[in-house]
Amino acid sequence: MKRLAVIGHPVAHSRSPAMQNAGLAELGLGEEWAYEALDVAPDRFEELVRGLPERGFVGANVTVPHKGAALAVADSLSETAREIGAANTLSFADDEIRADNTDAGGLLAALPASPAERRALVLGAGGAARAAVWALLGKGASVDVWNRTALRARHLCEELGGRPVESAEAGAYDLIVNSTTVGLHGEDPFEQLPLRRDHFAPGQAVVDMVYGGGSTALLEAAGAAGATTVDGIEVLVRQGALALRIWTGREAPLDAMRAAARG
Ligand code: NAP
Repeated sequence: MKRLAVIGHPVAHSRSPAMQNAGLAELGLGEEWAYEALDVAPDRFEELVRGLPERGFVGANVTVPHKGAALAVADSLSETAREIGAANTLSFADDEIRADNTDAGGLLAALPASPAERRALVLGAGGAARAAVWALLGKGASVDVWNRTALRARHLCEELGGRPVESAEAGAYDLIVNSTTVGLHGEDPFEQLPLRRDHFAPGQAVVDMVYGGGSTALLEAAGAAGATTVDGIEVLVRQGALALRIWTGREAPLDAMRAAARG
């Protein structure tokens, strides 16, 4: 049996096991491969990861709070993981731990159109925002970054590029990506983020990385104004599909993974 896992803390809520096992089954690999969730506290992360290969694991996704530690434990890094400074996908082969970041490619794959030469606003300065800024700049978007703690947005832009902003006229952007946790616990995005309901318009795309049960207040308002919306589940599916391809070498079955992720 080839084992895969998502490693987080907490991780019980993760949709990745259902999504990835559905993808493996659709590929006809359900008998040989299995994907599970592993909950480990930060102080035990490295020890756990180093022991995985001998337990039959060939790869793992890594989620909050371990994405920086995943980079540190790796013997080799993809260029994406190195430049973003975080990894969400590990592969174990030939006595080596390799780290990749599929959050960036997953976001790009989820977008309704190329961001090249479009004006983008990224909200947040954590790991998800770093992947978003790196991905959008790499595709030729012009990227403004707003964060509640302005200093973090400045540091992010010094490292990765983009322009830190302390206020934003959201109507001026072709693409808005919420990479904060606002909305995860029902927070009002129009109180916590520099957005107004009447800023949205047709022709805009709005991505909410946050995912939980169903749509978010941000996406509902954007969709009601005619903007194209992309939810966090779609981004999750796309990053997971890229990880599955890294491990199996096979093109991931998006429809089966999407159906399982949406439950
Ligand atoms: P993180 O590193 O902890 O960053 C959290 C960000 O949220 C920071 O920028 C923080 O601002 C901001 N924030 C928190 N509370 C806020 C508030 N009340 N008002 C305004 N800003 C607030 O988290 P992360 O790993 O980047 O993840 C961010 C979100 O993306 C999470 O909900 C995560 O689940 C989601 N995500 C989804 C996918 C996917 O595949 N769909 C992938 C990765 C992440 P400060 O700097 O001011 O604290």
